[in-house]
Amino acid sequence: MSENKTPRETDIVIAGGGLVGLTAALALASGAAGAPFRVVVVDALDPKSVVNAAYDGRNSSIAYSSWRLFEALGIADRLQGREQPINDILVTDGKVREGASPMFLHFAAAEIADETGDAPLGHFVENRHLREALLEAVAACDGIELIAPAKVADVTYAPGHALMTLEDGRTIKADLCVAADGRGSPVREKAGIKTIGWGYDQAGIVTTMVHDRPHEGVAQEYFLPGGPFAVLPMTGNRSSLVWTETKTVAADLMALDDDAFAAEAQDRFGTYLGDCRPDGPRWSYPLSLQLARDYVKPRLALVGDAAHGIHPLAGQGYNLGVRDVAALVDVLVESRKVGLDIGALTVLDRYQRWRRFDSTALAVMTDGLNRLFSNDIGPLRVVRDLGLGLVNQFGPARRLFMRQAAGAVGDLPTLMRG
Ligand SMILES: Cc1cc2nc3c(=O)[nH]c(=O)nc-3n(C[C@H](O)[C@H](O)[C@H](O)COP(=O)(O)OP(=O)(O)OC[C@H]3O[C@@H](n4cnc5c(N)ncnc54)[C@H](O)[C@@H]3O)c2cc1C
Repeated sequence: MSENKTPRETDIVIAGGGLVGLTAALALASGAAGAPFRVVVVDALDPKSVVNAAYDGRNSSIAYSSWRLFEALGIADRLQGREQPINDILVTDGKVREGASPMFLHFAAAEIADETGDAPLGHFVENRHLREALLEAVAACDGIELIAPAKVADVTYAPGHALMTLEDGRTIKADLCVAADGRGSPVREKAGIKTIGWGYDQAGIVTTMVHDRPHEGVAQEYFLPGGPFAVLPMTGNRSSLVWTETKTVAADLMALDDDAFAAEAQDRFGTYLGDCRPDGPRWSYPLSLQLARDYVKPRLALVGDAAHGIHPLAGQGYNLGVRDVAALVDVLVESRKVGLDIGALTVLDRYQRWRRFDSTALAVMTDGLNRLFSNDIGPLRVVRDLGLGLVNQFGPARRLFMRQAAGAVGDLPTLMRG
């Protein structure tokens, strides 16, 4: 254990260098939205271990507006050749072994081309590649110091600063602490910020499948009685399954051998991709909804899953975190420009007002969709199938949903405007 009594001084210290923490560090230090900040990021994990395929088999769908921030920060360039554009999204209701309902919802990138140019609806990226690109960009940025592996032990708040203490005794003094330390956020807990939410009796199984036929950049989501079942396009003839089931069924599926698992999967999504085989391990994630009651306190701002954890059915958790980051950057840059203290509650309150409604609305929407679709109740099935069909027939409604999914609505922060 090394003891160093002199605190390292910086503008902003970030607890947690996961996807959102690293994105926050880059956005704050790059100066792409105004004057750059000096940033220190602390993460408990060794950066070498988090880019290993065995650490996280998930992919992230990066919405159109988040991709704009990636372009502004040079992350998009680093992902070239490692991302799969999403051109179409198909949403259907279905039953195991009975196939999809004839009512479906089809989103095509071309439909909102007047706003987005020829851009795809989003990009699908393996989390290991995303972490790699973010870590490369962090290493190339002079204003960021990444301290990892190192665990945050405590953060205390004084009128002029926040003081972070690491488990090895090192201290970091900053104008502002940003908590990006995930759903269990120790920094949020220590600050006494309570959360509301509930667990779903569901787990999300994630694995990669290789298949004979190309997916053509189409993301498919089937609402099955156990929960949503997504087949999401990866580079090459590969797709990522995000398969939600009740916890008991998920445990049984996790125990199957590869052939039996592939047969169960194909019973759900059919044969449009030809013969499919699992390509690598399976992961199972418990699912829950969790919202922090406050996103800010004097000298503290929560971002990403530390502030809001939502059901993954819309693939928006990380995208919400990116929107937090972009909004926080705008608020801090503007405040500093006029000489305000970036740790003051009056400044941070603006960030909270900007972000809380959007995150809560999405959490409520994903929760509602999950409840409406994850069952086999006949009358409900009729109503939701009609709903899907109606939205699909009605162009303006369909385009509104697409703009929502692309994150291209509302008061967009500078880094997301392109
Ligand atoms: C099955 C599934 C599929 C998903 N698919 C998508 C998708 O397609 N698109 C999308 O946008 N989102 C998706 N999500 C959501 C997305 O993965 C999360 O919202 C996102 O990873 C949250 O990132 P974060 O950085 O806020 O938190 P985390 O990833 O939890 O990172 C927190 C970091 O904090 C560090 N940490 C914690 N405690 C300490 C401490 N005491 N000291 C130092 N460091 C600490 C951890 O080591 C970790 O690196 C999905 C989620 C699931 C479960």
